[in-house]
Amino acid sequence: SELLKTYTRFEQMSLKDDLLRGLYSSGFDVPSGIQQRGIVPIIKKRDLIAQSQSGTGKTATFSVGILQRIKLEKVQPQALVLSPTRELADQTGKVLKKLGDFMSITVLVCIGGKSVGKDIKALEDGVHVVTGTPGRVLDMLSRGKLQTKHLKMLVIDEADEMLGLGFKETIYDIYRFLPESLQIVLMSATLPRAVIEVSNTFMEDPIKILVKRHEQTLEGIRQFFVNVEKEKWKFDTLCDLYDTLTITQAVIFCNQKKKVDDLAIRLIENNFTVSSMHGSMPQQEREQIMNDFRMGESRVLLTTDVWARGIDVKQVSLVINYDIPPSREVYLHRIGRSGRFGRKGVAINFVKNDEMQALRDIEQYYSTEINEMPSSITEFL
Ligand code: ADP
Ligand code: MG
Repeated sequence: SELLKTYTRFEQMSLKDDLLRGLYSSGFDVPSGIQQRGIVPIIKKRDLIAQSQSGTGKTATFSVGILQRIKLEKVQPQALVLSPTRELADQTGKVLKKLGDFMSITVLVCIGGKSVGKDIKALEDGVHVVTGTPGRVLDMLSRGKLQTKHLKMLVIDEADEMLGLGFKETIYDIYRFLPESLQIVLMSATLPRAVIEVSNTFMEDPIKILVKRHEQTLEGIRQFFVNVEKEKWKFDTLCDLYDTLTITQAVIFCNQKKKVDDLAIRLIENNFTVSSMHGSMPQQEREQIMNDFRMGESRVLLTTDVWARGIDVKQVSLVINYDIPPSREVYLHRIGRSGRFGRKGVAINFVKNDEMQALRDIEQYYSTEINEMPSSITEFL
């Protein structure tokens, strides 16, 4: 059927002219694999569960779907996109605005840490699309400021994270405010079976686009490990790598906020330039750090899993797992901050003696290869 077809050109998808212009002006000439298969089902109002590897263009998949479905003359929220972090909600809002640049689309980014009054004002003035984080969106719904009468689409990006422990309750609370006949789209690079199963309870005969386990890692990202033996050797290993980190841009992941803070201080004391961010920093500081990093004004970013999902900075070609990630899903998302849209990338895992098996398990699960780091990795960047 036309729903399961692969559309190899945007021109075949019957998109509005102004939307096509938005795609071209964003430099999107040819649709990616997920776009070839995912956009049309969304336009045809079908529920969709879509998985594709990190950096393959899921954002534009649902954004084009949204923009095509919006009735511009009705300045009321018609689509809601939920994301797990403020930075991601903001990024998604920007993609929608860019793609909708020729359509006079209004998008509100509705996230915590920002003025509630401004959100209320924007909603009262009228918007077509809301992207946001669950807490603030629920707040706007509870206050009756985010009207759902004209809402026809809900997109849950990073759906496995959003339907997992941390957010599930809030998502269900939001869901209770939404109209019954609502199109639902779930997206992620990782969709464990359990998530697909719960989705059956609130989705209607969804079209499923899934990726096989051994095809989830990206060929362009080379994965290595360094056996640091003990925690205390991680620091020296990182310092030895510093010059390589700054060749393009790099992201270093730690498992705790405090560790990010401590490591940042220690690196700076040793005259290494790094910036750092995590979810307990003031919102303004988070924004400043993101801007600097996006502009390339800072090159090495120390962070937590607040950065693991969705964030798209094309210049990042190196990811370091200073700590082994808490799950194999998080592993995939972290290393996927590099190698965006077919670019090359390198992931380096610092492993203590007793963590080697955990890393081997990840390697085996994805049928990938994680070798010992060679003396130089610059050829892979
Ligand atoms: P995902 O959500 O799948 O991880 P994103 O939606 O963040 O990936 O897209 C990754 C990058 O690919 C972004 O920088 C985006 O601008 C770019 N991109 C997406 N679709 C296309 C396309 N059709 N042509 C060129 N670049 C694209
Ligand atoms: Mg994404």
